[in-house]
Amino acid sequence: MANYDGNNIFAKILRNELPSKKVLETDYALAFHDINPQAPVHVLVIPKGPYVSMDDFAANASSEEIVGLWSAVGETANTLGLVEGGYRILSNHSVHAHQDVFHLHIHILGGRPLGPMLEGGDVPPDGSWQRSE
Ligand code: AMP
Repeated sequence: MANYDGNNIFAKILRNELPSKKVLETDYALAFHDINPQAPVHVLVIPKGPYVSMDDFAANASSEEIVGLWSAVGETANTLGLVEGGYRILSNHSVHAHQDVFHLHIHILGGRPLGPMLEGGDVPPDGSWQRSE
């Protein structure tokens, strides 16, 4: 079981202890603008339940919560007018992905051509990055 800290920034946004620029709210999810946008449109969609990251969510969320989150992601992108031009979604889990806030969040990025999927971060040629099983 993941160790969820209820004092993280997004938990405080969900409790209205911190402000956010809300895009969409449903029974299962909240979407709001990222405070440090990496594209003309950069919105985060978070589940209302206490999940650290996608790993925790996939293992422990109910079917209703999973459908609720992903439906909200699609609806948010549509609300933002991103469907025609296109958009990218991503979610960072743990160290290698540089996760900073430990409440699951799906980034939605769009509003301009976004370039290659990943930039920089060369993989060591000796394969030492691979996990040994
Ligand atoms: P990650 O590195 O995937 O954990 O991303 C965390 C994201 O949260 C970053 O893009 C931050 O800019 C964003 N962020 C941090 N604090 C806030 C906040 N108070 N409101 C909106 N976005 C935030």
